[in-house]
Amino acid sequence: MDVSEFRKRGKEMVDYVADYLEKIETRQVYPDVEPGYLRPLIPDSAPEEPERFEDILKDVEKIIMPGVTHWHSPYFFAYFPTASSFPALLADLLSGGIGCIGFSWASSPACTELETVMLDWLGKMINLPPQFLAGKDGEGGGVIQGTASEATLVAMLAARTKAIQRVQSENRTLTQGDIIGRLVAYTSDQAHCSVEKDGLIAGVKIKHVPTDEKFAVRGSALRKVLDEDKAAGLIPFFFCATLGTTTCCSFDKLQELGPICNKENIWMHVDAAYAGSSFVCPEFRYLLSGIESADSFNFNPHKWLLVNFDCSAMWVKKRSDLTCAFKMDAVYLKHDHQESGLITDYRHWQIPLGRRFRSLKMWFVFRMYGVKGLQEYIRKHVKLAHEFEDLVLQDDRFEICADVILGLVCFRLKGTNELNEALLKSINDAKKIHLVPCQLREKFLLRFAICARTVESAHIQFAWEHITELANKLLKVQGQQQ
Ligand SMILES: *Cc1c(COP(=O)(O)O)cnc(C)c1O
Repeated sequence: MDVSEFRKRGKEMVDYVADYLEKIETRQVYPDVEPGYLRPLIPDSAPEEPERFEDILKDVEKIIMPGVTHWHSPYFFAYFPTASSFPALLADLLSGGIGCIGFSWASSPACTELETVMLDWLGKMINLPPQFLAGKDGEGGGVIQGTASEATLVAMLAARTKAIQRVQSENRTLTQGDIIGRLVAYTSDQAHCSVEKDGLIAGVKIKHVPTDEKFAVRGSALRKVLDEDKAAGLIPFFFCATLGTTTCCSFDKLQELGPICNKENIWMHVDAAYAGSSFVCPEFRYLLSGIESADSFNFNPHKWLLVNFDCSAMWVKKRSDLTCAFKMDAVYLKHDHQESGLITDYRHWQIPLGRRFRSLKMWFVFRMYGVKGLQEYIRKHVKLAHEFEDLVLQDDRFEICADVILGLVCFRLKGTNELNEALLKSINDAKKIHLVPCQLREKFLLRFAICARTVESAHIQFAWEHITELANKLLKVQGQQQ
């Protein structure tokens, strides 16, 4: 493909994507394929001779699309949203075109500098305390990680290094191995499973702190496990709080937890992967109260702030905590400016070396929506969640299982878990809408998450009618069996 063909095909590809998104409602939200469907449809090995673009594009419709789950369909209510917007898609094309690898300032100055400024913009948009911002000479600052899982891992590893140094400074006879064997990280019993996986990778024990009746970790619950573990000779070093849990969008009590962590030399990381985007609206910022005692904070603009995957924003109060833990200076990576103190070399803030120019998509989205546009978007989704909640509440065969605070509604039929499993199965078998379940304590329930950028009241009404029709059938069959 030469440049003139790229021009032509590029325009066609934009049309293909625009058509896809414009008509996405007409596609079945969840595919019909079985595992292994794809291999028989394509050759066993790559073609020897070059093929034509038209043929590839034809195969996209024939081979790929039948196996796609359409996350941006307004009938998709599963998991949490993943962001998509036209400005972000275009910025990603530009990022691919520039194609730089921004591991150091010198490896592409604009890539580093725009990222630092965008994280400051975003931090100000959600009213993050100024210690987390880079400004011109701040000690804190932000970085784009690929995912929330990585942000938690980076925080956990930096906290581990800090804890080892602290303990060794108090007791020089202890080896690193002695200390790591006694380190414990904590998180909520409702935390995302990635936190536990991060503990496995970091080689530290991880304990789940029990939550209260609102599925929130309270200070008293953390205090209790810390006291027990310290008495047993363990070294608590890390706590990952969750704002907006994946199961039911509950919020840990940062105001109670932060002071305990600060006093006990425990790094407090705050995972707000989904809920963080809502803090662009002043009316939801009460949920962030207590953030001033955190060491690091993370949320995913790629979930709910219209910036396509991947874009996970992470801030630290002390950038030196990361750079001390991860700094490696190979000769081929050194550059003239790195000793000046003004320079950010983002490779020290993350696990990989390479990084894409991801801040472009934030810049495009923030400018084309404006803070007001982003606020409107969040508010619309929250409103739709309450509309669905009201529908559930009007039908007394159903119950709401957790407070609806943002865009997630947890609900179930009053009755057994088996009944609700059957309801979910009939919904996902019909494939008119798509949902996923969760287990909240002993209850199996259905999660209805407002996801698509284009979802409207009509889709919510349709979804509820459809769910109640399936529930009617199910309850009728059950009634006949009894
Ligand atoms: C979605 C989610 C994650 C995982 O996000 P990734 O960016 O895919 O790693 C972590 N924590 C919470 C609370 C989430 O909702």
